[in-house]
Amino acid sequence: MSKSLRPATLLVHQGRDRDPATGAANIPVYLASTYHHFGGRPGEYDYARSGNPSRDQVEEAIALLENGVRGFAYASGMAAVGGALALLKSGDHVIAPDDLYGGTYRYLTLVLPQQGISVSLVNMTDPQTVENAIRPETRALFLETPSNPLFKISDLRALVEIARRRGLLTLLDNTFMTPLLQPALELGIDVAIHSATKFLGGHSDLLAGLVTTADPELAAQLKRFQNAMGATLAPFDCFLLARGIKTLKVRLEAAQTGAQILAERLVAHPAVARVYYPGLAEHPGRAVHFSQAAGPGAVLSFELKDRAGVTRVLEQVKLPIIAPSLGGVETILTHCWSMSHAAIPAPVKEQLGIRESLLRISTGIEDPEDLWEDLANALGD
Ligand SMILES: *Cc1c(COP(=O)(O)O)cnc(C)c1O
Repeated sequence: MSKSLRPATLLVHQGRDRDPATGAANIPVYLASTYHHFGGRPGEYDYARSGNPSRDQVEEAIALLENGVRGFAYASGMAAVGGALALLKSGDHVIAPDDLYGGTYRYLTLVLPQQGISVSLVNMTDPQTVENAIRPETRALFLETPSNPLFKISDLRALVEIARRRGLLTLLDNTFMTPLLQPALELGIDVAIHSATKFLGGHSDLLAGLVTTADPELAAQLKRFQNAMGATLAPFDCFLLARGIKTLKVRLEAAQTGAQILAERLVAHPAVARVYYPGLAEHPGRAVHFSQAAGPGAVLSFELKDRAGVTRVLEQVKLPIIAPSLGGVETILTHCWSMSHAAIPAPVKEQLGIRESLLRISTGIEDPEDLWEDLANALGD
């Protein structure tokens, strides 16, 4: 499929949009672990961990969407993070944001040190702080912007410039923005990572991770590690993911419109102390964010003046799923302290400003007026 197609078209047609064998309107779910060697000779596929047509569809899709040379699909976002971090080796040092996604925090503090890879967690909103943390053995910057749940913004161009000058690899977890809002590789990032469980899948019905790069050498290494580690995305989940990706643009636009409405109304609500959302005029990272992303996204968080209000909201809201996830067609409400960021020790959360009175909303595609009525009722209007 041509890379010059516009995003909405690419999303629908992806790399392959019909079964070459039958013309079926969808790529079939190839439920085969192994592939016959006709005449005893290997064909395009031999064993499903190494590759299969269902997985090829989503791997090509992420490469097309991010402008990469090749894509990789994993059994979860964390498997994708692990697959990308396999590019590092014992003795290396990696710098990551101090308000990292909880699961990645766990990976960086639990798994990497055992592999002899050291980690520094720093405030990445200031490029100078990142540059100061670089050591002779530093090999990579692991980036995430906007951060979650406080929506701190890091300047991707500035960090890529530092990384290039100092010979470091850049890896960006682009889950919150998706390729539609933040073109990671075009901004100079070496490896883009997505938890496709979130917006790309979009229906809260699967776990998946995607990785892509524009560098053929990195792609070859990622391919070897993906095959060696074996945490690949299963064929049926590839089908679900390919189906979700088709509607990403319409879903994301609708959800983002809803998030903007909720953010503005929450700012004006007497029970709310603070709202964190790059779509608000007063957001401190707004200018940097909009210099690298086409929209504010569909996730926001807000702090209540009163901790007891959190219990009330969680008990009273009817529409949102109350859960540690985001990016679905249904609105998802998260108490970060006890759910998405449970892996981060309480004193660290306190220090980062992730308070018990903080709630996160991933706006779905319901009518925003219904969402607001439900939320305002739970807040006690
Ligand atoms: C959910 C998430 C992940 C992990 O993805 P899983 O599919 O849950 O393994 C990584 N990064 C971010 C930003 C996420 O939101």
